[in-house]
Parts: sequence; C-alpha cells; structure tokens
Amino acid sequence: MADLVTTVSTAISLATRLREISKNIEDAEFKNLLADLNLELADAKMKMAVLISENAEMKAKLDSLTSATGEPCPKCNNRTFQIVSTRAHPTFGDMGAKEREYKCSGCGFEESKLIKP
Ligand SMILES: [Zn+2]
Repeated sequence: MADLVTTVSTAISLATRLREISKNIEDAEFKNLLADLNLELADAKMKMAVLISENAEMKAKLDSLTSATGEPCPKCNNRTFQIVSTRAHPTFGDMGAKEREYKCSGCGFEESKLIKP
C-alpha cells in the first residue's frame, strides 16, 4: 500500500513538473490534458486514502477476531462469545444452579446458559 502512495506521489510531482514546463508552451490542448491529468491523480490519491483507512480498519477487526479467546459463538463461530454476567438461576438457584449471560462482541448474539451445580 505504501508503494502505491509513493507511485501516485511521484506521478503527481511529474505532472507538476510538466505544468511548469508547459508555461513555455502555447498549446491549449496540451494544457487541458495536463489539467485533466492533475484532476485524475488527485482523485486517485483521495480514493487511495479511503482504501488505506478501510484496510487499517479491517486489519484491526481481523486481529480482534483471530486473537479472541472466548468460546466459539453459536451464530458467527468466532471466539468472541464471552460471559457478561452470572447470577443464581431464577428457578433452580436454590439448588445451586446459575444463569450466565453471554454476548458475542463480533455479531452481537446474546444467550443465557443454565449452569448446573
Ligand atoms: Zn457471534
């Protein structure tokens, strides 16, 4: 990705040099083409900036998914299914059963589990 930035930056500086040289040339078509080229390069640079930030976001998301250590989520199957809270089970609590609330930080799936004593 950094190579791509260097390539476009070089292309932009080449276009800038061409524009300097074109001051000595009285060809309107040449100047128009040069202006178009500059616009296209600026557009490419902007789109690249968007791609770079999207790429960084996706890398961060991938890292968080692959380094997660929770249980596999029943819905998305990533290891991002983790205990949010635990309490005595409303019905079987007297017998020592617990109810644990789980939530997946990846897809948002929630489920409670009955934990037998
Ligand atoms: Zn999930």
